[in-house]
Formats: sequence, C-alpha cells, structure tokens
Amino acid sequence: MAVQWYPGHMHKAQKEIAEIMPQIDMIIEVLDARIPYSSSNPMITKLRGDKPVIKLLNKRDLADPDLTSRWVDFLEQETGVRALPVTTQQPAEVKALIETCRKLVPHRDQMGKNIRAIIMGIPNVGKSTTINLLAGRIIAKTGNEPAVTKAQQRINLQNGVVLTDTPGMLWPKVENENSGYRLAVTGAVKDTAIESDDVGMFAADYLLEAYPTLIQKRYGIDQLPQTGWDLLEEIGRRRGCLRSGGKVEMNKAADLLLHELRAGTVGKITMETPEMVTAEEAEVERV
Ligand code: GDP
Repeated sequence: MAVQWYPGHMHKAQKEIAEIMPQIDMIIEVLDARIPYSSSNPMITKLRGDKPVIKLLNKRDLADPDLTSRWVDFLEQETGVRALPVTTQQPAEVKALIETCRKLVPHRDQMGKNIRAIIMGIPNVGKSTTINLLAGRIIAKTGNEPAVTKAQQRINLQNGVVLTDTPGMLWPKVENENSGYRLAVTGAVKDTAIESDDVGMFAADYLLEAYPTLIQKRYGIDQLPQTGWDLLEEIGRRRGCLRSGGKVEMNKAADLLLHELRAGTVGKITMETPEMVTAEEAEVERV
C-alpha cells in the first residue's frame, strides 16, 4: 500500500518518547474502538517496560458494543492493560479516566505528588478532543488533518495528573496489510493513499461476512450477493451511482459506502476481532 510513514519521522518520535519515559508514571493510549489492534502503535509495547497502560477505546459510539466488550476482555487478559471504552460525545466517560489513573499509580497519589501520564495515539483517533476534554479548554487542535504536535507539551490537569502530549506523529500498524485497509476504511489514513474502490471492496467483503443484516436493512437488499464487488455494484445501482448507459460507477459506489460506514449510518460496526488479529499475527510470524 502507498501510505508513507517516513522512517526519519518515526525514528525521531521514538527517540523523543524514549527520552521522556523515565519521568513518566503511566501511559494512556487512545485507540479507535472500531480497530483496537490496527490503530495501536507497535512501539508502545516495547517502550512500556512495566509501567501501567490505559487503552482508551474511543469512538465507541461507532463501534459494535458486543465486540467492544470482547476487545476489553482480550486486552485486559492478554496484554495486562486497562481498557476503557469511551466516546468524546460523553465527556464524563473520558473524565472518569482520571480516577483510573489514580488507582493504577497509587504511590504517587499517596505521596501527594502529581501522577505523570503520557498520552499517545495515531492520527485521527480523537487524541486532541480527549486532551481538550480533560483539560477543560482548547489545547490541542482537533479536526481531520493529522497535525503534528511540534514540541512536547505538558498540561497540568489541576486534579493531581500532569499530562504529557506526545511529540511528533505516531504511526499505526503498517506491516499488516489488512490493518492498512482497516485504517483506510475508518478514515484514519486519507482516501488518496489507496484507491477508494479497493478500500470499498475490502469493506464490502467484510460487511457481507460480519454484518449481513445491517447491509440488507440499510440498502434494502433482500438477497445479498456473494462477493464484495457485486455488493458494491448493487449498492451503486440502487443509489444511482451510474454512468451514462446505466453502468455502475464503482468508485462512486465505494465512496458512498465508505462515507456512510464512517458516519455510522450503516450501524455500529467494528472492523476486526481479537480472533482475526491473533490469526493474522500468527500468519505474519510464519512468513
Ligand atoms: P487526533 O488526530 O487523534 O487528535 O483526533 P481529533 O481529536 O482531531 O479527532 C479526529 C476526528 O474524530 C474529529 O472529526 C473528531 O470530531 C472525531 N471524534 C473524536 N472523538 C470521537 C468520538 O468519540 N466519536 C466520534 N463519532 N467521533 C469522534
């Protein structure tokens, strides 16, 4: 796939984070609840040592609730972190994070010292929105542009926690091709990186298998086709994505599906399960 995560950039971020680590008590990683594996940063596991980690499964409003609770169990049991599903649409959920920080680092709290937490996340998972909610004011720029935090920022939340915002831009899982597609489906990487009909087809294939009923309902298709390509064509036909002559314009159909998927209009959808990624990891190791 064509996404470029410049090695120089990655190297610099890793070095800067490694340098800060000795002054950090715990790590908060913001993830996208629709892709808790693909939106995670592979470096954090390495740099973590034995520091407590909270994984915020943000955008839970868009994710499949059953799978979100399976992901929470999996992350807590398999990787020994605390996993909290949240949506920034419910600020109280995000703010409850502070209590969890206190529980995870009780000795700092008991000594009357601030808990020093670092917050990390790949672009577009909602890290800036989360920081602004925790701080109660606008500190980080939000929006869809993957802005780079130029310098390391330290924010005193005035509640016993001091938050360090990660400098530089963190990269997602790139060695797994499926992760690349899932990041594109959820909008974490820009559409231009991979052809939209490829991304649309990846989404259509997965939806046919994992969420057939939601697709039937949303697009009024009683008899679902066998393949993602045929599904896209059917959606395009029904939604008028047509060229002159009546042929379906496939990239328009793909854009339409992706747009509705990202907006949550198709339903609450999670793009990967713990079982899927465990199998994929085993496959990567085997090759
Ligand atoms: P950052 O790049 O990680 O700092 O992400 P931002 O905070 O800029 O958020 C990226 C996009 O996701 C913005 O359009 C936010 O409005 C949106 N967003 C953030 N949190 C949530 C959430 O919990 N639910 C939904 N549906 N959208 C969210």
